[in-house]
Amino acid sequence: MTRLIFLGPPGAGKGTQAQTLSHDQQIPHISTGDILRAAVKQQTDLGRQAQSYMDEGELVPDQLIIDLVRDRLSYQDVAAGWILDGFPRTVVQAQFLDILLEEMNQAFDWVINFDVPDEMLVERLMGRGRKDDTEDVIRHRLQVYRQQTLPLIDFYRQREQLISLNGAQPVESVMTDLQHAIQA
Ligand code: AMP
Repeated sequence: MTRLIFLGPPGAGKGTQAQTLSHDQQIPHISTGDILRAAVKQQTDLGRQAQSYMDEGELVPDQLIIDLVRDRLSYQDVAAGWILDGFPRTVVQAQFLDILLEEMNQAFDWVINFDVPDEMLVERLMGRGRKDDTEDVIRHRLQVYRQQTLPLIDFYRQREQLISLNGAQPVESVMTDLQHAIQA
C-alpha cells in the first residue's frame, strides 16, 4: 500500500514521476491540475469557476479544491493507495487533508519534495506549451509557489514526513531515487 503526496514547484517533474509510479504500482494518480483542466474543457460549474485563476497562474480558491479532493478520495479505487500530485498547495489545504484522512482512517506514507532550481523550471515550462505556460504566467506561478506552497516544506519536515529528491537529474535517475526512498 502506497500513499504519497508529491510537492514541488510547477515544472519540477511531479506529474511525469507520478504517472510512471502510478502505472508501476497500479494506484491512482490524482492530479488536481488535470482534474481542473478536464473540468474547464467540459465547462462544468467547477471548470467555469476555476478557469480565470488558472489562466492567470493564481491558485484556485481553497474551498473549490477541498470539495474536489473530498469527492475524488471517495472513489473506490483509492482503497489500493494513491499519489496526490499538486495537492495540497496551501497550509489550509494541508490541514484539511489531515482531517479528511483521519475521517477516512488513512495516513500517507511520505511527502516527496522535488527540488529543482528556478532557471531550470522556467526553461522546462517554456518548452511544455500548455495554455498557462507563457513566460509572464510561468513567473507568476513560481512566485505563487514560493509564497503559498513553499511553507509546506517546513510544515511536513517538522513532522518528519518529508523526503526531498534532486529533481534536476534526468527523469530515470529521479525515478530510481524515488523508488529507493519509498522502499526504505
Ligand atoms: P498544475 O497542473 O498542478 O500545475 O495546476 C495547474 C493550475 O491548476 C494551477 O496553476 C492552479 O491554478 C490550479 N491548481 C491545481 N492544483 C491546485 C491546488 N491544490 N490549489 C489551488 N489551485 C490549484
